[in-house]
Amino acid sequence: MAKFEYAPAPESRAIVDLQPSYGLFIGGEFVPGQGGAGFKTVSPATEEVLAEVTDATAADVDAAVAAARAAYEQVWGRMPGGDRGKYLFRIARILQERAREFAVLESLDNGKPIRESRDVDVPLAAAHFFYHAGWADKLQYASLGPDPRPHGVVGQVIPWNFPLLMLAWKIAPALATGNTVVLKPAETTPLTALLFAQVCQQADLPPGVVNIVTGAGATGQAIVDHPGVDKLAFTGSTAVGKMIARSIAGTRKHATLELGGKAANIVFDDAPIDQAVEGIVNGIFFNQGHVCCAGSRLLVQESVAEEVEKRLKRRLATLRVGDPLDKNTDVGAINSRAQLERITALTAAGEAEGAQRWDTGCELPAKGFWFRPTVFTGVSQTHRIAQEEIFGPVLSVLTFRTPQEAVAKANNTPYGLSAGVWTEKGSRILWMADQLRAGVVWANTFNKFDPTSPFGGYKESGYGREGGRHGLAAYVTTGESQ
Ligand code: NAD
Repeated sequence: MAKFEYAPAPESRAIVDLQPSYGLFIGGEFVPGQGGAGFKTVSPATEEVLAEVTDATAADVDAAVAAARAAYEQVWGRMPGGDRGKYLFRIARILQERAREFAVLESLDNGKPIRESRDVDVPLAAAHFFYHAGWADKLQYASLGPDPRPHGVVGQVIPWNFPLLMLAWKIAPALATGNTVVLKPAETTPLTALLFAQVCQQADLPPGVVNIVTGAGATGQAIVDHPGVDKLAFTGSTAVGKMIARSIAGTRKHATLELGGKAANIVFDDAPIDQAVEGIVNGIFFNQGHVCCAGSRLLVQESVAEEVEKRLKRRLATLRVGDPLDKNTDVGAINSRAQLERITALTAAGEAEGAQRWDTGCELPAKGFWFRPTVFTGVSQTHRIAQEEIFGPVLSVLTFRTPQEAVAKANNTPYGLSAGVWTEKGSRILWMADQLRAGVVWANTFNKFDPTSPFGGYKESGYGREGGRHGLAAYVTTGESQ
């Protein structure tokens, strides 16, 4: 297939007004941290320092929780749902109005292609606020129990792969149900959360309803351990999720944990192969594979395996890897040096264990953190690359002969977040969806997200759901469970 040459089409970054340093957003204002330390956030595509952010201490977290408590007790927890909804609608509209600014900033700080931040992350973040705005005055009709009430102060800790979108998944339902929030973005991607703090000011959100504290694991731990936090919502790795579950065991804190995944994308021999190939590419190379529900294990029926592999490699050779701000880019930068090292180590293990490695051989920029789209064939179920989450643009290919074998292999992982099924047969889709131990099963598509649809895992992928009515349930207590 011919590879077309494109002229560069860079999105201007002039719309982003980067400050050299940022404080913490507590009680409706940006304040300096009490510990005085800061850390730098860089563009993973160029290693350029974008800004210095504050490393929040336990004392800062304490101040943020106090602000959230006061806002809950004095204003937000008492406000009629219809009024809360108006604030959420306002935030949603401001996100739309400032969409380009958010998209450019997200691509700068995260390394993801502007096409994705512009067309997926930011519109979906706004959609989450619109959706939850609609629920704010209708909670008694959401089948949440006789008298759904907020928990109070919610502590939220999020990862770096969809910084603004994960913030929206967390903050929108919490606010709609009458809770106040202390949120910590990931240490490598704090900038869109800090821009969101400005949106809260612009929307005249009462001070203390949303508080944003920046920092690394220790700051997250301070939120988890704080006695004034009533509920925790965490998205991140299974290892940290387990530590959090241990920390809060025996306390009265409620928690939802959205953790890792190792999804099977299953292609049957009756599937339209070219469409399936698009779904495989979207499944694992979208967002550089930094996706918890990525289709990182391709299970392909043996009779079509060779053909699928051939067409997949041909398609991958056309992917454009490079500048995240170029509108033609398909695959951007790896988010951090640490993540690049993890991907490199796991792919080396794949080779050492005997799988066959193939990559596109494309040119990579000299500076920054990059990894070529990579496919491993001849993968067996015991290989680390078939069991462990790589969280990068790396696909492991396994084969199967019967639907039963596909199910057994798909379920043979400690995770259970998502799965994909490609077949023409509707009855097979339903049977597979019933058998697969995964929170989300896509049929003849992959990586489709919608605020109305619950998302979450089985097994080591965590517990609780986000999105839809199920997601609201995590943010309320009812008569029975208080
Ligand atoms: P991570 O667990 O290292 O970090 C996630 C967040 O937790 C960060 O903000 C980090 O600072 C914080 N943190 C680290 N140690 C902590 C501690 N001891 N206490 C409290 N907070 C702490 O994960 P990551 O590398 O940033 O993100 C990648 C992981 O997230 C992957 O495993 C991915 O599958 C998962 N993820 C899951 C979902 C989902 O919805 N299930 C969505 C996105 C990402």
